[in-house]
Amino acid sequence: AVPLVVAINTSTAARNGMLVRDRIAMEQARNLDTIVFDKTGTLTEGEQGVVDVATTDGWTAEDALALAAAVERDSEHMIAQAIREEAAERDLSVPAVNGFEALEGRGVRATVEPEAVPAVASGGDGSSEREPANGATASDGHTVAVGGPNLLRHLEVEPGPGLERFADEAGSRGEGVVYVLRDERVVGAVALADVIREASYEAIEALHEMGVAVAMLTGDDADVAHSVADDLGIDTVFAEVLPEDKDEKIQELQERGHLVAMVGDGVNDAPALTRADVGIAIGSGTDVAVESAGVVLVENDPRDVARLVRLSRKSYRKMQ
Ligand code: ADP
Ligand code: MG
Repeated sequence: AVPLVVAINTSTAARNGMLVRDRIAMEQARNLDTIVFDKTGTLTEGEQGVVDVATTDGWTAEDALALAAAVERDSEHMIAQAIREEAAERDLSVPAVNGFEALEGRGVRATVEPEAVPAVASGGDGSSEREPANGATASDGHTVAVGGPNLLRHLEVEPGPGLERFADEAGSRGEGVVYVLRDERVVGAVALADVIREASYEAIEALHEMGVAVAMLTGDDADVAHSVADDLGIDTVFAEVLPEDKDEKIQELQERGHLVAMVGDGVNDAPALTRADVGIAIGSGTDVAVESAGVVLVENDPRDVARLVRLSRKSYRKMQ
């Protein structure tokens, strides 16, 4: 039978916008000393908008955006959504692609028919004319990729001085940048802005008042992550963390003696949610995240994390 005090606690939790999937998590919450938040879609709205586009010689913003939108067609990432919306707003004709591939935590890649990359290929600075080094001919199509700075590092490709300056300026404004690559050559960069949720400021303030440290864990670029973290007053930042490494960061904190909660919404967050002493999923998040969590925030409100700790402290003090 369910002990009465826990039953009451669970329904109180429900009234406070929390769905308790694991009662032990609810009890553990009172001892938490560190809360780790995913950034995108958790502390921020996760709804990105395209702010600016820059290109290398011979490419127009429209050409780069149309290619980017083509490759992003089958991606569920917020960045993909923003790029598709921008292309639609500009009435761009978006070519078809083959062989879509998600490069987890880095970007996306696909092949675009050569006739879909027309005006551009004949206009450029000459270097774009070259056949791909692997001996493939242009009739095999062009490989187009869209991804963050981490994708460029992974491919060991430089953006070039112009786009580097563009990215630095965007980063200092707290905007993220993704690059558009054709055949592993950077042809454009897209600056995107996300908005910090109002409730995040209050959530972090409330947790600090309760003596709980707050960290941010994100796959996003360090510049963007630090700009958001500084704004919110977050104590520790783990940036540019690949999806498969997110749970290791939680483990590191645990090995240093902390009792850690993870708050996330994405497929990428699932292993970290499982690893944490208390996994907390944003209700509107992906099914995988919700299924990996002990507590679900039904109202998608980060302030409910502080409420959870408070409720757990209150309820279980009574029990002892
Ligand atoms: P987060 O941890 O912030 O939710 P992800 O792990 O999903 O971020 O992605 C990390 C980074 O990889 C993004 O900030 C972006 O630079 C790049 N990226 C991932 N998916 C895409 C995509 N579909 N299009 C472009 N860039 C992407
Ligand atoms: Mg996320």
